Amino acid sequence: MENIEKIRHSLAHIMASSVLELWPKTKLGMGPAIENGFYYDFHLPKPLQEQDLEEIEKKMKELILQKLKFEKENISKQRAKKLFAIQPYKLELIKDLPGQNVSIYKTGEFVDLCKGPHINNTKEININAFKLTKTAGAYWKGSEKNKMLTRIYGLAFETEKQLMDYLNMLQEAEKRDHRKLGEALDLFVFSELVGPGLPLYTFRGTTILNQLKNYINELQSVIGYQEVQTPNMNRAELFKISGHYEKFKDDMFSVKSHYTKEEYFLKPMNCPQHTQIFASRPRSYKDLPIRIADFCQLHRDEKTGELSGLTRLRGFRQDDGHSFCREDQIKNEFKSVLSVIEKAMKTFGMKYRIRFSLWDPKHPEKYLGDEKIWKKSQQLLEEILVENKIEYFKAVGEAAMYGPKMDLVSKDSLGREWQLSTIQLDFIMPERFGLKYADSDGKEKTPVMVHRAIVGSPERFLGILIEHYAGAFPVWLSPVQVAIIPISEKHSAYAEKIEKDLKDNNIRVETKNENETLGKKIREAEMQKIPYLLIVGDKEISADAVSVRERSKGDLGQMPIDKFINKIKEQIKLKI
Ligand SMILES: [Zn+2]
Ligand SMILES: [Zn+2]
Repeated sequence: MENIEKIRHSLAHIMASSVLELWPKTKLGMGPAIENGFYYDFHLPKPLQEQDLEEIEKKMKELILQKLKFEKENISKQRAKKLFAIQPYKLELIKDLPGQNVSIYKTGEFVDLCKGPHINNTKEININAFKLTKTAGAYWKGSEKNKMLTRIYGLAFETEKQLMDYLNMLQEAEKRDHRKLGEALDLFVFSELVGPGLPLYTFRGTTILNQLKNYINELQSVIGYQEVQTPNMNRAELFKISGHYEKFKDDMFSVKSHYTKEEYFLKPMNCPQHTQIFASRPRSYKDLPIRIADFCQLHRDEKTGELSGLTRLRGFRQDDGHSFCREDQIKNEFKSVLSVIEKAMKTFGMKYRIRFSLWDPKHPEKYLGDEKIWKKSQQLLEEILVENKIEYFKAVGEAAMYGPKMDLVSKDSLGREWQLSTIQLDFIMPERFGLKYADSDGKEKTPVMVHRAIVGSPERFLGILIEHYAGAFPVWLSPVQVAIIPISEKHSAYAEKIEKDLKDNNIRVETKNENETLGKKIREAEMQKIPYLLIVGDKEISADAVSVRERSKGDLGQMPIDKFINKIKEQIKLKI
């Protein structure tokens, strides 16, 4: 365990200790370290007020400055039951733990049931590098059947600067929150009548999604993928063969027909259906790889509490593709997808690293196929990573149910990491579906399946891009690329002519004809983060030109319309 994680977990203990000193009747839940900090769940004798967090924090600092030791002790369950006699949640945990003994940690007066590890002494904690941030309701052990406890969250780092940088990032992220910006920029809406996790994309949001789709098609057609369309639902039978019925059933929406008793499901992924396109005609070794891509709507039955903006949805698409290939083609398939992903991430200005996602040999029941096939496929992927000099880190237990993956973890402009692209190797599904091709020796063989996504879900990616660009999309993605602003009504005929010129060049344009002041119209267009504003009045008409204002750069002066059109078209072409 890294030292900072020990510090975070130790702070959770210190927080529990402080809460107990302030409100001795508090019942303690659990308190682990988490990413960037820690939390502890409490059953408090009173509702928490805003200022209580400050009070707790003050108490924590007092305790830390006492240079308290963290001391571990193994004791019998019997002794532990006496020790935690007035702590019902701890008693429950003691009962659940295996064996006859449990370990406890003492810090000053405070004792917690805990297996550690911890720091040795509170003097290792920098009192200026942690902060309590918020409270939330949390069910005991995460189950809705249990009591709701109060969870107090804290942030903790090694240095004060790290904490400050993180707090600044959070502040900036809040300003960029895609749920707020998505509404302000009129990109998507949610309706209670339609249902949670099922967004409706307005014309503007749809324009961006279409641009993303076109771009992905552009990229994937270069490496031989062809777009197909497949239905949103299918018979349960398909998922019984693929293995989803067995391993994924609880995450799928079931569909009822009035005319058959057969089970149907909304599909959560496209792979099983794509096998049926492959299987639809005889294939020879010369036909391979067969590469197909799909943007069909997918559905997953997520818990409502886990849904969030566009980043966790019940209905979404994926830029999903499958290559059915021979074993000797696997490396090349991975290489070509990697090259396209690299290009895409460059276009979006995102750095990335690759997570090599492996199976968890301790939990073979979560996966399809045996150990031999997993060893083989994992070794092959590792070879590809090494041969292509790709930097990667391993993650055990993150594989797909049918095979190991290379997942791209991309960094946005605020330094936050998102898992976007993925390439996965699968020896199992083609086998289960009995897919065959005729090899050069005339024998029937089973193809290999490579699953891949370039940006993952375009909808989720839209959410990430809104925050990455703070709503100011590059010209090629902007729903409205140019706003024309006539100074007064008498300039509207000229504005119309300019609008037509732009539309003839496939530029997305809006004319602000409202009866408002010039200042107000400019401000409004700027609020919508439109990349270019063209202002037209008497001067522009007599010069047969437009006055150009570029977002973030300001006034570019007068320009003949042709010159402006060439400039913006070049930017769109280069996707900058
Ligand atoms: Zn602990
Ligand atoms: Zn797939």
